[in-house]
Amino acid sequence: MIPFNRPPYTGNEDAHVLDAMRSDKISGDGEYTLRCQQWFREQLGCHKALLTPSCTHALEMAALLIDIRPGDEVIMPSYTFVSTANAFVLRGARIVFVDIRPDTMNIDEACIEAAITANTKAIVVVHYAGVACEMDDIMALAEHHGIFVIEDAAQGMMATYKGRPLGSIGHLGAYSFHETKNYTSGGEGGLLIVNDARYVERAEVLREKGTNRSQFFRGMVDKYSWVDVGSSYLPSELQAAYLWGQLQAVDKIDADRRRAWHYYYGALAPLAERGRICLPTIPEACRHNAHMFYLKVADIDERSRLLAFLKEQDVMAVFHYVPLHASVAGQRWGTFIGDDRYTSLESDRLIRLPLWYGIGEKELNCVVAAVMRYFD
Ligand SMILES: *Cc1c(COP(=O)(O)O)cnc(C)c1O
Repeated sequence: MIPFNRPPYTGNEDAHVLDAMRSDKISGDGEYTLRCQQWFREQLGCHKALLTPSCTHALEMAALLIDIRPGDEVIMPSYTFVSTANAFVLRGARIVFVDIRPDTMNIDEACIEAAITANTKAIVVVHYAGVACEMDDIMALAEHHGIFVIEDAAQGMMATYKGRPLGSIGHLGAYSFHETKNYTSGGEGGLLIVNDARYVERAEVLREKGTNRSQFFRGMVDKYSWVDVGSSYLPSELQAAYLWGQLQAVDKIDADRRRAWHYYYGALAPLAERGRICLPTIPEACRHNAHMFYLKVADIDERSRLLAFLKEQDVMAVFHYVPLHASVAGQRWGTFIGDDRYTSLESDRLIRLPLWYGIGEKELNCVVAAVMRYFD
């Protein structure tokens, strides 16, 4: 069976994880955490980058930082992972879902303004498949209405919009280092990206259980104490060491995934030309990171048949995201505003093909051949 995913692993990780294990500091914010955070700060040009146990936690921190309260409304696409919404629902927000664009599966920037009310606090954009949302329009709209933009860039590390790294454009951004993403910190992990300088200090406090411990360690205060709400949003040094190993090979991992992505794109182009499938669109302004390769078929029935066929051929393909507005929790805490022209239809048609760092020509070939056989 060709698996759908394999966690990225380069061989650089072992030495760093061992090194961390043998040090006398394995809890959070040791050498490796600081090194990773410094790397991201330089890479992203942000005010602060903080490793977290997951992207979910980074989004929860973002909701706390912008002070989401009961009655606030947060606009986001319905076609996304549950954490995008949960982080804000946990703080009492009402979720306002709007439609996506069929070409990128990203939030349709043209649908946002009609959903803004006096209660709107933020827009959460999701850069699906590492392809950027139309950020210039969205940032201008947010500025005009005095609301925040949070980037769920869980899938977006090493991708850019007009040359700017995803996650570095909104007020706050979040990455995921889950094993299904392009880079991992040993299975689970995330990053909070602080682009608005006003939130640097409080982000550190929230992450350290509501204490000013980070300032204490830097010698800025002479004792540390409880100063705000917070939680434990630090990963262990072993996770940071694993991630550090991957950061040493960022370009190699990126190039390898793009190789696989372009292989699929080239090999499946004839099927798209014959109108049997739709391939992803990468707008001019975007440099994507080959986070996933998806294709779209006619409808949900054809998708079920193709998935079953691929399984028979020992190819593990998957689909994802039942739109949140159609879920039990989404109906309880959210409302879809405007027409659902694309979210339901397009999400029903989408299939993700196997793609991981190091996937061989042989596997890629097998997957393509199986898809071709289905359509023949
Ligand atoms: C993976 C993912 C998340 C969650 O990431 P975790 O690190 O598993 O919490 C959130 N949003 C999107 C769009 C994702 O793809």
